[in-house]
Amino acid sequence: MTSIKPVALITGASSGIGEAAAIRLLAAGYIVYGTSRRGEQAGQRQFPLIALDVTDDNSVTAAVSELLQREGRIDLLINNAGFGVAPAAAEESSIEQAKAILDTNFLGIVRMTRAVVPHMRQQGSGRIINISSILGVVPMPFVALYAASKHAVEGYSEALDHELRTRGIRVSVIEPAYTKTQFEANNMEPDAKLEEYDQVRNKLAKVVAQAMEKADAPTVVAEVVLKAARAKQPKLRYT
Ligand code: NDP
Repeated sequence: MTSIKPVALITGASSGIGEAAAIRLLAAGYIVYGTSRRGEQAGQRQFPLIALDVTDDNSVTAAVSELLQREGRIDLLINNAGFGVAPAAAEESSIEQAKAILDTNFLGIVRMTRAVVPHMRQQGSGRIINISSILGVVPMPFVALYAASKHAVEGYSEALDHELRTRGIRVSVIEPAYTKTQFEANNMEPDAKLEEYDQVRNKLAKVVAQAMEKADAPTVVAEVVLKAARAKQPKLRYT
């Protein structure tokens, strides 16, 4: 069935920024599908939740096929699924942790892009919005892995926008600062905690706690998502 309203797919819409963006886009007249690794088990929402794990190739293919079967098109892809790391020195994080964060935060976007772009190319139009972070622009010490994953998102998105704009597809990144969500609770803890870093770890924890007190609600980021989605000439970066 081909719909007249634009169809949006938002990864990681079971909480936080993804959920707020889904609700905002719904109110603005989009047909919205969210995703969660738990699918509908993640709870009742105003929009359907498709099961999706962005680290799993088959899951990505199945989720995009399901959306296309239901709606026949995809106009907007919002790559939002991601997680952070608790402050850790480089030597406290293992290669497995580096692979894990890149697998979700960066390769997850690569997998979704590969699955969705052929359909957007066929349509001759489409928008992709990737949720990066202010740490994708300004890397901070002791969150090097997270910063690296978001820098990868920035570089990939910019290259992709140049590559796809002649096909009617535009790509933007949004770079939120601290936002009040489940993000911190889902932080990956370092593999090792070396005593010599305890002091800096405690200091950073205090700084982060203070920043979180003043942090934006996810609805603030959701407004930026809508602005980027609707812009006739979208910017590459929304900081
Ligand atoms: P939340 O933890 O509230 O939401 C993260 C979402 O990602 C959840 O819906 C979760 O769904 C989903 N998710 C996690 N891993 C996977 C996976 N492998 N496959 C599919 N879905 C997955 O955090 P936020 O809303 O804060 O985070 C959203 C994005 O915003 C992230 O990319 C984050 O890096 C970015 N960001 C957040 C900031 C903040 O301060 N909160 C600041 C800057 C950027 P489920 O568990 O149901 O699968």
